[in-house]
Amino acid sequence: MKSQYLLDVLATVEKRNPGEPEFIQAVTEVLESLEPLIEARPDLVEAGVLERLVEPERQIIFRVPWVDDNGKVQVNRGYRIQFNSAIGPYKGGIRLHPSVYIGIIKFLGFEQIFKNSLTTLPMGGAKGGSDFDPKGKSDGEVMRFCQSFITELFRHIGADCDVPAGDIGTGGREIGYMFGQYKRLVNEFTGVLTGKGLSFGGSLARTEATGFGLCYFTEEMLKANGKSFKDQTVVISGSGNVATYANQKATALGAKVVAMSDSNGYIYDPNGVDLAAIKQIKEVDRKRIKEYLITHPTAEYHEGHGIWSVPCDIALPCATQNDIGKADAELLVKNGCYCVAEGANMPSTPEAIEVFLANNMLYGPAKAANAGGVATSGLEMSQNSIRYGWSFEEVDQKLHSIMKSIFASCDEAARTYGMEGNYMAGANIAGFLKVAEAMKAQGCC
Ligand code: NDP
Repeated sequence: MKSQYLLDVLATVEKRNPGEPEFIQAVTEVLESLEPLIEARPDLVEAGVLERLVEPERQIIFRVPWVDDNGKVQVNRGYRIQFNSAIGPYKGGIRLHPSVYIGIIKFLGFEQIFKNSLTTLPMGGAKGGSDFDPKGKSDGEVMRFCQSFITELFRHIGADCDVPAGDIGTGGREIGYMFGQYKRLVNEFTGVLTGKGLSFGGSLARTEATGFGLCYFTEEMLKANGKSFKDQTVVISGSGNVATYANQKATALGAKVVAMSDSNGYIYDPNGVDLAAIKQIKEVDRKRIKEYLITHPTAEYHEGHGIWSVPCDIALPCATQNDIGKADAELLVKNGCYCVAEGANMPSTPEAIEVFLANNMLYGPAKAANAGGVATSGLEMSQNSIRYGWSFEEVDQKLHSIMKSIFASCDEAARTYGMEGNYMAGANIAGFLKVAEAMKAQGCC
């Protein structure tokens, strides 16, 4: 980054947000991509758009006390970062994981601004969460935590103000408990959360949306470069919501998924991972991925973080941030991988991205490639507003056309600013421009 103006903006962010490396990483990546645009648009500098964009509109931190099954009081910390509402109500998921602290929530909220803008739907950017770990907790404990979390958060959210959703550790069970508590507190049945159960306002295809959307985006990127999923070997990290449905769609499009993981280790099945077995282990039994060997003894299980050593054509990181480091990226290249598309948020370190770009790999950045989840949440909001439900096929078809349009926007923005094929720069520029124009039009606020 050469622009002194951008370096000054970044220096202020670093000074204001000490000890938050993930947030600084996300801001740095976006500012770097915006350099050619900022040179061409002095009016955006004049309007202070960037200085405002990197400072959240509102940050809420609160105590979440709850009682465990032994009658003991436990205390977690809750967060909601309402980052930007220039183009619509705040929108973004809730992450429940012990690693959660304010820097993680800020990085995710910042990314969400551009992602939501790319979807073409009217949604601002936000993120929330807690350092609560649902793993190993009983349903009763999870319910009491969720009720306590919403007992504070309810006053800050609403169908036309801020609409939270799921993320790591927050699936249908948690959203159900949160929705129930919200309804009880405000005495209104509104679309305040997305990812709801189908019997109380959820959208068909929302569960599948992020994974399916990732494959639709990847399919477009492959097609634009004369390739397809057909007969390709795919490796997917994670075995949660995004990973599961990425596997399902990639397989439907003709690929073979040979490896998946969880936070303990990964499985390698050269015959193709049996997704029904993964769903049973992760969605029903809530167990560890190594259980796969009980029903598939010819597969391999490896403890630890080694999944990127498995040779593949296409890599789909769908677990967590900074999952692919420089050495992993180099290993992927060495083993013939030519395409990385991100289902998780910021799963590749800046050094890994440098390796992808230096080796002319097709690289689909998270804020574009995984935007299908929030896009379908936007469709859930629309259905709630009109009190109507579309069929699975209708939602899936809308999702598919949104992902095609996201790829086209990234491609076009990259070409316009002289970075053809750099879909990361294209995503940052296209996502930013819409928000920036809205912020400028709304004056200094
Ligand atoms: P889930 O909780 O359903 O699954 C997360 C998966 O990642 C699990 O397999 C989990 O393993 C693994 N994982 C989590 N943390 C770590 C870690 N520190 N190291 C290694 N593995 C880890 O979450 P989702 O599938 O919903 O989310 C996955 C990613 O996709 C996240 O980055 C999320 O922000 C992003 N995303 C999700 C969307 C959605 O609609 N769900 C939308 C857009 C992005 P284990 O079971 O051992 O914890």
